[in-house]
Amino acid sequence: MPARNILVINCGSSSIKFALVNEAHSQFPLHGLAECLGSRDAVLRWQRGGEKDSLMLPQGDHRAALAQLLPLVQGASGGTLHGIGHRVVHGGERFTSAQRLTPEVIAAIRAIAPLAPLHNPASLQGIDAALSLFPQLPQVAVFDTAFHQSLPEHAYRYAVPETLYRQHGVRRYGFHGTSHRYVSRRAAEMAGLAVGDSSWLVAHLGNGCSTCAVVDGQSRDTSMGLTPLEGLVMGTRSGDVDPNLHGHLARTLGWSLEEIDRMLNKDSGLLGLSGLSNDMRSLEQARERGHAGATLAIEVFCYRLAKSLAALGCALPQLDGLVFTGGIGENSPLVRSKTVAHLRLLHLALDKEANARCVRGVGGAIHVPGHPRVLVVPTNEERQIALDTLTLLEA
Ligand code: ADP
Repeated sequence: MPARNILVINCGSSSIKFALVNEAHSQFPLHGLAECLGSRDAVLRWQRGGEKDSLMLPQGDHRAALAQLLPLVQGASGGTLHGIGHRVVHGGERFTSAQRLTPEVIAAIRAIAPLAPLHNPASLQGIDAALSLFPQLPQVAVFDTAFHQSLPEHAYRYAVPETLYRQHGVRRYGFHGTSHRYVSRRAAEMAGLAVGDSSWLVAHLGNGCSTCAVVDGQSRDTSMGLTPLEGLVMGTRSGDVDPNLHGHLARTLGWSLEEIDRMLNKDSGLLGLSGLSNDMRSLEQARERGHAGATLAIEVFCYRLAKSLAALGCALPQLDGLVFTGGIGENSPLVRSKTVAHLRLLHLALDKEANARCVRGVGGAIHVPGHPRVLVVPTNEERQIALDTLTLLEA
């Protein structure tokens, strides 16, 4: 049987990230981004075999972008596309694994939308467009939350009145599940351990950041909660703050809920602390020049990350290793070394040269021999979504 092709789609409210994944090749034959959808600057950009190209789509929406993508995908896949995998952020408690898209599954994704008001409606736009443009193809939804549905109740419940959980779904869900699952499996392979018999701490550090405790291939705890704001310091998100901060700001500054939400989601994190940027690369450069805000932002980021990892240690029977992934985790020896320096209690120690070597897609072990494993594992959410899609197509 020839190697199969899956188109992976990740829709935002005004964007679509896409990748054509071929099961036999690690490089994507085609990948790109449609952005500013719905505006006069709407544009489709793609890369195929090292060649970059773009097409303006003035006022184009998700459907218009996918319609333009169709011939590109046909060209890059040699005419045979076997299915489409959609990244969907929130699967609530309903979905513990990827699902073939049926009217019933689509209705459930719609019903869960109040828990992810920015994300699930955007995914549904992409799903509707893809189903009407590719009606003959099997399509699958892969949920960011699904991997964390194995959390025990003591890890997913908040200490708030039970009715909020039972009637309104107020609990911890966790996100980045596709990445945590992919890299914890890769880590087990790299270490020569069985996925089903190994325990990992994972730090996914991109623009959004989260940690996860993975035991025997299952998520047992994670740092994000009801929404992706809980937990670590991120690019523009605060992570954990005192829950009374909302009341305090409302009372003392008269801020509205919308202003507080915006501040915590868009103006905080690395950007808020540094007063400079949400981008770790820029902050590292500014720190080199002695910028106080950038220096502080990196210190807080690493300390809070280490604190989260140490806390998640409670969910592990033993530690087979710590995994760094995501744009920062895969590329910042500085963040890795500062974080590990706070974890001496776990006996972690980094090999300086190995740590420096693992950047730009190079993964590997970076610990000092004789100390617990620390691995850099490049994530590949698109490939995991494609693999999940293929598994369902075979079922
Ligand atoms: P997303 O969550 O949007 O997928 P990424 O996983 O691409 O984001 O991560 C983006 C983050 O990775 C940014 O903060 C960026 O500065 C950081 N990053 C990328 N390359 C480097 C680098 N060489 N050194 C430090 N940080 C880096």
